[in-house]
Amino acid sequence: MTEIWLGLGSNLGNREAAIRRATDLMPPFLSDIQLSGLWESKARYVEDQPDFLNAVVRGLTELGPELLLEAIQAIENEMGRDRVTVVPKGPRIIDIDILLYGEKIIVSDRLVVPHPGMRERKFVLLPLLQLDPSLVDPVSRRRFSSFLAELPPQGIYPCESTGYHIPYP
Ligand code: ATP
Ligand code: CA
Ligand code: CA
Repeated sequence: MTEIWLGLGSNLGNREAAIRRATDLMPPFLSDIQLSGLWESKARYVEDQPDFLNAVVRGLTELGPELLLEAIQAIENEMGRDRVTVVPKGPRIIDIDILLYGEKIIVSDRLVVPHPGMRERKFVLLPLLQLDPSLVDPVSRRRFSSFLAELPPQGIYPCESTGYHIPYP
């Protein structure tokens, strides 16, 4: 069993329902699932689109990284994610990224893990650190909290009171 971390995002339709449905579809390949709080964030990269709802899921899996990617893409497809007509970084009903696969470092055509964007994205770091404030980046060996501390405001807010001290937006 390997501990893995997934980043979820939605900015179309009922965003909260989409995040919960995606999580509900994971038990066939993921156990001991923990879902972070939900965070509302301004779209980055392509800014002219609705705000996102983001969360992080942590769990244990027997699948290898490639099969895990196939499993999460199957959920995206099942939920109607349109991969053909939509612009890159554009609106989506659901996006699921592999953030971390244990401490494994992977660089292939299909998969880069740890996810290369995670250290600069508060919508990843904030929910990730909610679940494990002391988590360490296997590449740099730095705590993810130290990356967060260096980032400017990114227009992100918790949907419910977090009761913790990590700074946002
Ligand atoms: P970003 O990866 O910057 O968040 P995105 O999520 O919008 O962008 P997608 O269009 O969802 O990108 O995915 C494009 C491809 O990225 C996928 O088909 C997949 O092969 C590849 N990919 C590489 N690394 C990962 C990873 N860690 N998790 C998920 N997909 C990945
Ligand atoms: Ca993504
Ligand atoms: Ca993705």
